[in-house]
Amino acid sequence: MRNCYVYKCDWKHKNNPKRAMFIIPKDPAKFKQWSDVLPKHRRLTNHDRVCEKHFDPADIMRDWSHVIQGETKKVKRCKPNLRPDAVPRYFDLSEAELRNIARKRRLKAPNKQLEAEEKEHETPAEKPSEDEPSFRYELEESEKNAIFEDVYENIFEVELPSTLWGVHRDPEKNYIAFTRFQMLEMPTCTTSTTLVIERSLKCCAWCDASIVLEEDLCMKMASQEGGEEQPSRCHVISEVLDSLEQLAIVHKPSTGERH
Ligand SMILES: [Zn+2]
Repeated sequence: MRNCYVYKCDWKHKNNPKRAMFIIPKDPAKFKQWSDVLPKHRRLTNHDRVCEKHFDPADIMRDWSHVIQGETKKVKRCKPNLRPDAVPRYFDLSEAELRNIARKRRLKAPNKQLEAEEKEHETPAEKPSEDEPSFRYELEESEKNAIFEDVYENIFEVELPSTLWGVHRDPEKNYIAFTRFQMLEMPTCTTSTTLVIERSLKCCAWCDASIVLEEDLCMKMASQEGGEEQPSRCHVISEVLDSLEQLAIVHKPSTGERH
């Protein structure tokens, strides 16, 4: 996962993990220039990055030019750089995605200024009709699917609390699961904890036979769309696993054989 700021870009280019990434300029005037053109589904920060797909190829410098004995030689740069005046310009967003972005901004709008700014840029066609609620907290099926696919592909980035944990992916891509298996007194006394996350992003955990957790991870996962200051979606899962590890440590399994 490359964490490009542009909405759904990582998902669209998941088969191209080596895209060059460029940090948002620190200079306030340039920051504003980028901020004005980038479609914003959340607040843009100095830590955000934008990938090469959004720039004119002529704005990306991939070689060093050296003049040696009157001849120009090109040497590939280890890391491409942007020309100083480069600004992202291609976003490849559908009408539906632009509407989603507008909706997300209404959901998250932290202050009046953002709302005012949004109204200014809103075209009449984007305004919700009278009988349509202006915002919803439900994610669309396609958004849940995209998040699930992202987590499914990056499951090995989830930090497991201990070596007792294992990772499982349903070949049909309907769920992912994590299990913790421990043998306490060989071989009769074992304890296991299982966490299953369904495609709908609902999760459920059992410690031996009893349910210990039921949670909808939609909103937690949806807010993790990149940016270095935010934990990733894998981190959301790691936190759930950590809490299950704590539960498992205090859980005393019954063997059925003790007197
Ligand atoms: Zn991108």
